[in-house]
Parts: sequence; C-alpha cells; structure tokens
Amino acid sequence: MKERGLLIVLSGPSGVGKGTVRKELFSQEDTNFHYSISMTTRTPREGEVDGIDYFFKSRDQFESLIKQNKLLEWAEYVGNYYGTPVDYVEKTLSEGKDVFLEIEVQGAMQVKKAFPEGLFIFLAPPSLQELEDRIVNRGTESKQLVENRMNKARDEIFLMNAYDYVVINDEISNACDKIKAIVVAEHCRRERVEASYKKMVGVE
Ligand code: 5GP
Repeated sequence: MKERGLLIVLSGPSGVGKGTVRKELFSQEDTNFHYSISMTTRTPREGEVDGIDYFFKSRDQFESLIKQNKLLEWAEYVGNYYGTPVDYVEKTLSEGKDVFLEIEVQGAMQVKKAFPEGLFIFLAPPSLQELEDRIVNRGTESKQLVENRMNKARDEIFLMNAYDYVVINDEISNACDKIKAIVVAEHCRRERVEASYKKMVGVE
C-alpha cells in the first residue's frame, strides 16, 4: 500500500497574499504538491475561470454540498461561502500525493480537527500597514469591504499559535522557497519516516 500524502494547509489573515503565493508556487515546475480547488459562492473576478480558480456555486448548491457532507471544511467569509471538496482531498492523499489547501483561518481550524497530522503553515504580513496597503491596492474591494477585511485580519493574526510554521510574506519568492523547504523537512520528520520503516519490518 502506498504511503498517504501530506495535507499542507496554507492560511493566514485576509490580504496577506495567500492567493498570490499559492499561484506563484503552482507556476514553479518543481512544486510537486497538488492544489485543491475550492468551491465558493462569490462571483468570479475578472479573468477567473470556473474549475481553475474556484468551482463557482450558487448558495443553494453550496448548502446542499454542506448537507451531503461533501466538504472537508467550509466557512462563511465576508458574505460568501468557501469550502474544500472532501472527495478530491481524500482521493489524492490516498494516491500518496501531497495536497495543498489555501484557505482562511476558520476553515484551517476545522481541517486541524479532522487532520491533526496535517502540516499547518501560517502566512504572516511583515506589518499591519503593509496588509492594509495590499488590500487597498488590490482594488477589487469597496471601502466598506476593505474595512471589514482589515478588522478580520487584526483578529486573525493572533491565531498563528495554532500553526506549525510561520512564513513572513516579505517577498513572494522567499515565501515560496520557505514553504517548499518546510514541506521537504516535514517529509523527513522522524515520526513519518519511522512509521514506514516499521511497516517494512512488520513491527506495525
Ligand atoms: P478570495 O475571495 O479573495 O478569493 O478569498 C477569500 C478568502 O477565502 C481567502 O482568505 C482564501 O484563502 C479563502 N478561501 C479560499 N478557498 C477557501 C476554502 O475552500 N475554504 C476556506 N475556509 N477558505 C477559503
């Protein structure tokens, strides 16, 4: 039987650049983990494609997925639902492949309950001012939404204590390098390696 893959969760406050870091990671050829495309009820932004950036769903469709237990985690975030399809995650992990989730903090805590053995990485802003600048400069949100996202971000930053690693997003390429290094290190963790050797010699 194949070793199960690693579940990697990248989370952090709104506007910290999780999406940008994730896109950069998956544009690099040596990134060999698999991105789990989320479902959302928010409307697509310009250039976003259904099935690539998100699976765009109506509220009714999303609520029905919740009822059918089709989501590993879900959260309502500034007025829209976001969630991770459980089937893709389970199937990919069972094929021995690493799965990468890029999700907000409430969802990450639900994943931690379901998968305590996952790898939880918190992406942090170099400063709160920088965070606000990024949300404003993104230009996709109204003034009220920027304010909501900033309020949320201030609360969210202190949730880092539930994570295994913190990566400061000072430079996108630095952050990507660190995330890849963390994943490599995690695969070398004694507990993980030892378990597979125990199986080999039939101790477990
Ligand atoms: P955006 O609307 O900017 O694409 O995403 C808003 C927030 O939702 C981001 O913090 C993003 O990481 C988060 N998000 C994206 N997909 C999921 C998901 O499947 N579950 C949860 N809980 N959050 C998600």
